[in-house]
Amino acid sequence: MIASAITPAPAIAAREAAVPAPAVACGYNVGMSNGTDAAAGAAAASDKPLDFIRAIVAEDLQAGKHGGRVHTRFPPEPNGYLHIGHAKSICLNFGVALDFGGRCNLRFDDTNPAKEDVEYVDAIRDDVRWLGFDWEGREFYASDYFEQLYLWAEELIQKGLAYVDNLTADEVREHRGTLTEPGRESPYRDRPAAENLDLFRRMRAGEFADGAYTLRAKIDMASPNINMRDPALYRIRRASHHRTGDAWCIYPMYDFAHALSDAIEGITHSICTLEFEDHRPLYDWCVANCSVPHVPRQIEFARLNVGYTVMSKRRLLALVQEGVVSGWDDPRMPTICGLRRRGYTPESIREFASRVGVAKRENLVDYALLEDAVRDDLNRRAPRAMAVLRPLKVIVENYPEGRAEQIELPRHPDRPEDGVRAIPFSRELYIERDDFMEDPPKTYFRLAPGREVRLRGTYFLTCRRAVKNEAGEVVELRCTCDPATRGGSAPDGRKPKATIHWVSASHAAPAEVRLYDRLFTSLVPGGEADGGDWRASLNPASLDTAAAMVEPSLAGAKPGDRFQFERLGYFCADPDSRPGRPVFNRTVTLKDTWARVAGK
Ligand code: ATP
Ligand code: MG
Repeated sequence: MIASAITPAPAIAAREAAVPAPAVACGYNVGMSNGTDAAAGAAAASDKPLDFIRAIVAEDLQAGKHGGRVHTRFPPEPNGYLHIGHAKSICLNFGVALDFGGRCNLRFDDTNPAKEDVEYVDAIRDDVRWLGFDWEGREFYASDYFEQLYLWAEELIQKGLAYVDNLTADEVREHRGTLTEPGRESPYRDRPAAENLDLFRRMRAGEFADGAYTLRAKIDMASPNINMRDPALYRIRRASHHRTGDAWCIYPMYDFAHALSDAIEGITHSICTLEFEDHRPLYDWCVANCSVPHVPRQIEFARLNVGYTVMSKRRLLALVQEGVVSGWDDPRMPTICGLRRRGYTPESIREFASRVGVAKRENLVDYALLEDAVRDDLNRRAPRAMAVLRPLKVIVENYPEGRAEQIELPRHPDRPEDGVRAIPFSRELYIERDDFMEDPPKTYFRLAPGREVRLRGTYFLTCRRAVKNEAGEVVELRCTCDPATRGGSAPDGRKPKATIHWVSASHAAPAEVRLYDRLFTSLVPGGEADGGDWRASLNPASLDTAAAMVEPSLAGAKPGDRFQFERLGYFCADPDSRPGRPVFNRTVTLKDTWARVAGK
């Protein structure tokens, strides 16, 4: 009955990159690597076939591009907590840098002050570090570049490549055209450069109301790519920024700021998700038309989508704000902090990212893949323990009252070096309520009247009778044990069909155990089955709480301690734990019971 499937996961290629001190090349060149050992790193890439991004990087290195440098960045917007999709991007960006002896920056894309907050900045830092990646002090902010970005905007104006527009947001939309119709030019498009410059400077100086003007790139209103129809570069927005305060009332748009931030940092391969593919011409236009020190290349890959959950930050924020979950780190959330609290290890998340791989086409990954990764990892590392989630009292009638003995069991079956743990055995025990059936069907081999089972690690136990309350519910079992079977085997060689776990009633510690199910019952929340409403398939039974009894050694479990509770799954002590009153989250069951339930 004790699960022992071991699927060793491939080792993670986490080669330490020997990184030279940041080179200060040109004035606005932030932490560019100088490529000393990038080529050497390429050779060290693993034995797995390269994904298409690593293949591009290897090719670029071979062709001598970027002076042999590899420099990536992870660019979160600090407007929410990171989720498992971001973890994939982190593993990819930092992983490419590690594999090729390059560098990876952590850059906060903080160009939208209204939604951003330092709380998120701190959480993002913690999460990236926890995942096991090091940006080696290269923590940058798009807002650090506001002055440089502003100067480049002036440069575009002077070159006749940008203009100040008076059209309102609605009018801009009306002029934009559609996929099949070209857009119409703004009547302000041909304003002379000097006038544009004057207006833009006055925009910065705060002379105009929010939305009164925008700075737009002058590209092509008839472009088949709508992103190239004179996209906005700056808007007026009076909002306090979490870093620059009220220094600015104009803020750069994402496409402009992102491309140029990459250029400033000397990013060689700017890896982003597929929805930016249509923005690439604009990305290239920005770096081509401003006097940048370096030309980065954007490469898109398919974002990670996982079934039975949502990953948009907007929806995750709604779950938090509407109280559907207890916070961003609720163990049901697909956030990195949620997974951490749930008991996921950084290794398991990195392994998951590696198993999922990097693709060019959108796909939906089964949640079970994530669970498999943590199961494999915890099977190897989690010490074993016994816990009874729904206790049923057992009196061992032939065991003396007041006596207790210590049963020794290995902490880990595959690691004898970890030693043993002692578990008290006594006359009164708890077993799992569903390990007893008064009138069992043929296929049920656990305890029943007259039936013998093995108590994990020790005696065989036979049920003599069940004691019921007035409502007819079984409240206690009267049993006997066979003293000759203390070591878990009988001298006559008989073998019970089942082994069940147990704890000694007077020694066990009470614990709260939180059992989780998927947060949504639909594979794609908000999909067709939900009539487009992503809240429609919220699973009302995603959290179940059990008043458990656990072996005494667990009473002092510290938040973050992980265990396999035999037969029940992997569990992690929650920060809500108090001395003598631990709280455990079930990270994952021992087997994928969900696939069976879902009828797959
Ligand atoms: P949302 O769409 O929910 O607002 P976002 O993608 O805009 O999230 P960012 O903070 O901009 O969030 O993302 C930072 C980086 O992580 C970006 O490079 C983005 O492409 C990447 N990323 C975000 N979601 C995923 C995902 N599901 N799979 C892979 N990479 C992702
Ligand atoms: Mg984004």
